[in-house]
Amino acid sequence: MSDSRTDESLPVAGPAVVAFARSWLRVVARTSYVPGGRARARGLLERLTRRLLAALLAEPFDAAAGYGVGVELVRARISSPLALGNTIALLNGRLLGDLELADRVHRERLGELVGQLAAGFGEGIRSRARNDAEDLHRAERDVWRRQQRQLQDQIQHVLLHEPLTGLPNRAALAARLSEVLAGATGTERIGVCVIDLERFSAVNDSVGPAEGDRLLRAVGDQLRRLASTDDTFLAHLGGDEFAFVVERTSNADDVVKLVDRALRALPNPCRIGGHDIVVGAKAGIVERLAAGADPTELLRAADVALGWAKKDPHAQWAVFEPARNAVDVARHELTNAMPAALAAGEFTLAYQPLVRLRDRTVVGVEALARWSHPVFGPVSPSQFIPLAERTALIMPLGRHLLERACVQAASWQSAVGLGGELADPTPRQPMVSVNLAAAQLREPGLPAIVAAILDRTGLPAHRLQLEITENAILEPDQSTMRPLHALAELGVRLAIDDFGTGYSNLTYLHTMPVHTIKLAAAFLADLDRARAERSAARMVPHLIALGHDLRMEITAEGVESAAQADLLTALNCDIGQGHVLGRPMPPERIGELLAAGGRVDW
Ligand code: C2E
Ligand code: CA
Ligand code: CA
Repeated sequence: MSDSRTDESLPVAGPAVVAFARSWLRVVARTSYVPGGRARARGLLERLTRRLLAALLAEPFDAAAGYGVGVELVRARISSPLALGNTIALLNGRLLGDLELADRVHRERLGELVGQLAAGFGEGIRSRARNDAEDLHRAERDVWRRQQRQLQDQIQHVLLHEPLTGLPNRAALAARLSEVLAGATGTERIGVCVIDLERFSAVNDSVGPAEGDRLLRAVGDQLRRLASTDDTFLAHLGGDEFAFVVERTSNADDVVKLVDRALRALPNPCRIGGHDIVVGAKAGIVERLAAGADPTELLRAADVALGWAKKDPHAQWAVFEPARNAVDVARHELTNAMPAALAAGEFTLAYQPLVRLRDRTVVGVEALARWSHPVFGPVSPSQFIPLAERTALIMPLGRHLLERACVQAASWQSAVGLGGELADPTPRQPMVSVNLAAAQLREPGLPAIVAAILDRTGLPAHRLQLEITENAILEPDQSTMRPLHALAELGVRLAIDDFGTGYSNLTYLHTMPVHTIKLAAAFLADLDRARAERSAARMVPHLIALGHDLRMEITAEGVESAAQADLLTALNCDIGQGHVLGRPMPPERIGELLAAGGRVDW
């Protein structure tokens, strides 16, 4: 079989292997006398665990190692069907978790290894029986044959059932699906749903595995009652996951109804470990034409839908929709493409004028991230910034954009070439306003990073403004207030972005070192219309007055019409930003605008 040198010398996961082998010994010692003493058996099982682990990690993957392990178990006289059953249950239930390999690839590999292990185990038994049988009389041989057949059946049962609930397992479900799909005709439809208990691992941890097992058995018993028709097949996929295959459906609703019944049938409340526990579950459903469907794909689709249901706090189940999946896939691809795009310099900045309304002068620009992907084309920052925020990429990306914006702003200053610094920004000394993601604000060392960038680029601190969305500071606490104060001490201007879209408490405002409030575009929507009386626009004069009371500057975003610009000017709003005052544009165009005196008209 496989090369035993690699088995022994595998450097990974030593303690986990030893601990796993110890559990393995425990479950087989429970079922059969272990010949040769426990120490020898433990040594053997450690070696077999390493061998399985090596096979799991090997590239390319080869399930043959599982076969060898099965043969060796029998050779070591660990050969009762129960020992095999417990071994399979332990491998399926714990191995990947213990080794921290519980992803789909390794789950699939383990499934194949376990199948091979059982096959090797069966062959080990058969060859032992053959050897023994040669010495026997014909009558005795018949007895042997019968016993072999029984053993074969037992092995088959063990292979296709979850020991805990006695229900068909994942392999059995896959076999059943293949069979049904192969026999499907023209318009026949099929449904699959995966049901996953909520908070099961928490329950398991708090009451212990024995009680957890009892709960799973109770759930299995209830669900079994729903699978009594020929068209409904129930499987226990392992852990706290169950699945139904429903044949001859007419639409997804048939499966939804079954799911509803299944969720109602959960043994609730369930008395476990002396407590009454309410067991919840969520389900993922897929239902489609049977012709052309593939078992793996169906299960994967049900899993994807289950993921959607889990993400939605109000949903009990979700039905797989290919279109929605396409959005997930695209999102996933974009996320994966971002690190390389950052390295390749694909992220750039466009700049949008910030116009002082009373004299129509450009006093600064907002830096807005742009990404043109070579294949996907232009991607909106409203799309990729949240994706970057969900991964750690927002940190290097944010830093990159901040540095770029500062370099750019410093170059506008030197191009115009002016001696001393003025206190207020002007077209000759414009400020640049850079958006900060909430995660960046909480990054330890942000003030030091900003200080270093200012130092490197030579941009005076007061010409950098950092925009923080209202939502990032909804509940001002130490983790947000400390960096805000440190940044303010550097002399950097701080702006609250999209003000009015969150639910920030106005009373916090005066305790914050904020220079500018950027009113969200939504406030302006009806500003120039008669309906203003009943809309958010009627807040605008009050917000401007409030900001001025707090000695803050007010910027209005989304100024799209001359009428809006006029009204805002009349209301004493300090700065305007929007399409009518200038769209986001490449830095060269901003340079030209500034060089020409930085006046805009509307
Ligand atoms: P934001 O910070 O509120 O930026 C203003 C958005 O409104 C920009 O969209 C801008 O192009 C758009 N806009 C400007 N004038 C008008 C107007 O008159 N009418 C309308 N309807 N829209 C106008 P953009 O560039 O697509 O950016 C979207 C959002 O993406 C930004 O909203 C900001 O939250 C985020 N974002 C952009 N760049 C960055 C960045 O470098 N870092 C971070 N963290 N977020 C960024
Ligand atoms: Ca902004
Ligand atoms: Ca904004």
